[in-house]
Amino acid sequence: MDFRDIKSLTREELREELLRKGEKAFRADQIYSWMHEKLASGFHEMTNLSRTLREALEREYEYVNLEIVEVQRSRLDGTCKYLFRLADGNMIESVLMRYHHGNSVCISSQAGCRMGCRFCASTIGGLVRNLQASEMLDQIYRIQKDSGERVSNVVVMGTGEPLDNYENLLRFLKILSDEHGLHISQRNITVSTCGIAPRIRELAEEDLSITLALSLHAATQEKREELMPIARKYKLPEVLDACAYYYDKTGRRLTFEYSLVGGVNDHPEDARRLSALAKPLHSHINLIPVNPVTERKYVQPDKKVIGNFKKELEKYGINVTIRREMGRDIDGACGQLRRRYLETAE
Ligand code: SAH
Repeated sequence: MDFRDIKSLTREELREELLRKGEKAFRADQIYSWMHEKLASGFHEMTNLSRTLREALEREYEYVNLEIVEVQRSRLDGTCKYLFRLADGNMIESVLMRYHHGNSVCISSQAGCRMGCRFCASTIGGLVRNLQASEMLDQIYRIQKDSGERVSNVVVMGTGEPLDNYENLLRFLKILSDEHGLHISQRNITVSTCGIAPRIRELAEEDLSITLALSLHAATQEKREELMPIARKYKLPEVLDACAYYYDKTGRRLTFEYSLVGGVNDHPEDARRLSALAKPLHSHINLIPVNPVTERKYVQPDKKVIGNFKKELEKYGINVTIRREMGRDIDGACGQLRRRYLETAE
């Protein structure tokens, strides 16, 4: 990681960094609080530091500050989609969703993605680059400032595969849940993965209390490969073993995400197979009627088929919810706002 990117340093690292420069530890704490608690937009706002120190920081460090390019507001449910420009010109998107239990932000972990899931818009242009921890954090900071409302939940379910950007993800999780930052409880943070089995095992060792969501989408190896090319590399038994390990080690139940695609994975037999995978792990299943993407041919099953699929799972005693569609009237599906922007820019 680049130590010039000051917002990506954990509190301990920032202290060490400043002590080495002959500053006192409490200075580091003040700077940390300006960045992660008060959400300052630059060193110039840090008014309890001397001018000399502020200027020295300015010279030595990069201060990541995302630029809001566009905000789309849903008139149906208050959902807001944000398009941000990074310092190098790359674009990313995030979503603010308003629920009864609080505000939830869905963030991107990479610019683009290299996993290639067939139904997903985020992967169409491939991976551009990983996001720094600061760039993941700032999506939340900017949205909290722009909306003027506290963010209480974070889901890493936007563009990118978080476990393909592992080191930065860990930093992000530490800083986001730090008591001297936004202090979002790890229980209110969900990380979603397409199933990079060795990384799931590694994550189990990190002593975190986040929720891990596995994008399952199919209950057989064959169907899963059809929808998700990455499934050829990490086969279903290996992925499920890693999930069982995660559950054993952390005591945290996983969520299985299952995008329902009309005529592909919505048969009652699919539900039966799916329940057999979820049962031993006590996993919660989140059904996501596939969000049609212009570039892809997949369609949502009929309402009735979706309802029956849910009932079928419940029959086997599975805890299941259907993802409420938020922001139907704005570019809803993962990566669509960014794609539209890239297309008009081409
Ligand atoms: N790479 C991670 C996180 C990003 S995607 C992962 O694969 O989990 C977040 C979730 O949205 C995943 O379950 C993904 O499969 C799903 N998704 C992506 N595009 C979708 C679409 N068009 N319709 C429904 N779900 C979609």
